[in-house]
Amino acid sequence: MDKELSKKLLYKPLNVFLNEDVKQNADEYCKGYREFIDSAKTEREAVDYAVMQAEKNGFVAYDRKASYKPGDRVYYVNRKKGIYLAVIGKEKTETGVRMIIAHTDCPRLDLKQKPLYEEANLALLKTHYYGGIKKYQWTAIPLSLHGVIYRADGSEVKICIGEDESEPVFYITDLMPHIAKDQYAKTLAEGITGEGLNLVAASAPYDEEDGVKLNLLNILNEKYGITERDLITAELIATPATRSREVGLDRSMIMAYGHDDRICAYPAYTALFDLDIPEHTCIAAFADKEEIGSEGVTGLRSDFLPHFLMDLCANDNSDYIACCANSICLSSDVGGAYDPNFGGAYDPKNSAYINNGPVIVKYTGSRGKGGCSDASAEVVSRIALMFDKAGVIWQCGEYGKVDQGGAGTVATEVAALNIDVVDCGVPILSMHSTGELASKGDIYMMYKADKAFYAS
Ligand code: MN
Ligand code: MN
Repeated sequence: MDKELSKKLLYKPLNVFLNEDVKQNADEYCKGYREFIDSAKTEREAVDYAVMQAEKNGFVAYDRKASYKPGDRVYYVNRKKGIYLAVIGKEKTETGVRMIIAHTDCPRLDLKQKPLYEEANLALLKTHYYGGIKKYQWTAIPLSLHGVIYRADGSEVKICIGEDESEPVFYITDLMPHIAKDQYAKTLAEGITGEGLNLVAASAPYDEEDGVKLNLLNILNEKYGITERDLITAELIATPATRSREVGLDRSMIMAYGHDDRICAYPAYTALFDLDIPEHTCIAAFADKEEIGSEGVTGLRSDFLPHFLMDLCANDNSDYIACCANSICLSSDVGGAYDPNFGGAYDPKNSAYINNGPVIVKYTGSRGKGGCSDASAEVVSRIALMFDKAGVIWQCGEYGKVDQGGAGTVATEVAALNIDVVDCGVPILSMHSTGELASKGDIYMMYKADKAFYAS
């Protein structure tokens, strides 16, 4: 067979780094991405960062009583933890919106409501982990503390300790190997327990009578004006205190905490910022609580999204039912890239690979696609065609081999609104670890994919 014919017949994924646009622009584009993830480690910080960037790019806070015209740029914040950014299109809202939803909550350690105690000359903070973590990864690394505390008088204190090199960090101990015989005999899941994930927060006592706990409370009171009572109502989150780093001698990759899923949030909003006056109204959203099933008032299961769409419909006298039926959404969440160190967990013939571009995931779920939305051939081929026309390098892939486990995304919540949706995101390695790995070329190609989607 001649080469042209075999090339036409066979499907072979391309490498993003062979693309001229990627060669010229991915590196620069990813500098902005690294600034975002290094300064926004929690959903609250991601929303604050997005608002700051949006305002610089001509977006204004959405006002339900105002009326908007094509080209207007608005953002709508859901309780400081989620954000919807929109550029109003030329066509009426009932002709359908183009929506990209990523999530900005990441697996982490939340402080318990009564966290502080003293033992063995140390002050420690008890945690309850959030999302799917491998607990052993959280020991013996520098940790930072983020969140918000409300004083007894109702005033707010924002907390971010340990991100600046000059600031102290927190720490979780691990048992020395010398006496770890019993620990070694346990499974990976049990070697470090949830109740063992206690942050070392101080070690010096106040004086001979009043120990480390009181000394720490005194430091907190002097610095923030808070007492132990105020920790009960606080929302405090421990994350790795590490910054993103370039990986590989070719500097082609980025290692960072929480690529999942800020790595899809950044392309979504930067592609939205590039828009002038789109044909259809375009939306980029940061969802919260994806890692624990999209529950709660800031998760995608709340009515915040349909209410926002209803508002947009009311603005141009559109029919909400038609709007949902005609809309299309990218549930933009990371895909699991094939890991050569753990090949046995994957079907290599149906895996996504690093540097083959954004991965379209037709279905997620587990045990026979349980709990997934399973995008139709019509929707998947529509997206694939869209990407092909725009020169986007893309691939398909599923998480792991059949019956090995599984995952869910916000696609199920979007589909429940009668909106066509498919998962599409950046493939990453070491997902949900304290240092995930992704390719600069894939990140840039995700941005190109989002631009193509908004232009459709
Ligand atoms: Mn995710
Ligand atoms: Mn995740």
